[in-house]
Amino acid sequence: MWSQRQVMSHALQRRHTLESMLRGERAFSSTTACDAEPLLVRAALHHGEPSAVACPVCDSEHMMNLNYTFGDQLGQYSGRHKSTAELEEMQNEIGEFTVRVVEVCPDCRWNHLITTYVLGDGKKRRPPRRQKTVEDIYG
Ligand SMILES: [Zn+2]
Repeated sequence: MWSQRQVMSHALQRRHTLESMLRGERAFSSTTACDAEPLLVRAALHHGEPSAVACPVCDSEHMMNLNYTFGDQLGQYSGRHKSTAELEEMQNEIGEFTVRVVEVCPDCRWNHLITTYVLGDGKKRRPPRRQKTVEDIYG
């Protein structure tokens, strides 16, 4: 993606978590690291993009990556997951937003942040006008 910047890899933390799990440290026992919420697993199954690597815990080939988007210019849509195709469109329409890529294994529920980066064309824009949500109407 052309506007990708401030790329930060979380490979070191990922390795640290895995090594701690292998050493059997309580804080990182597999029940702690393989703790993907049912919603996260469902999002990965329906909206995730296949990962290029196998699960580091159970060796599953079904690992998925999810791109979560955050930023003031996204308004109420900050925090949603987006496909790579959607990110490619968004980078031309939004000045600046952060993408956090999370890998999720639907088989053992391993999940970890793998990369963070910033996208956007650099032009400051107002967030979209707030739309009513189901919570506004029925909440
Ligand atoms: Zn797994």
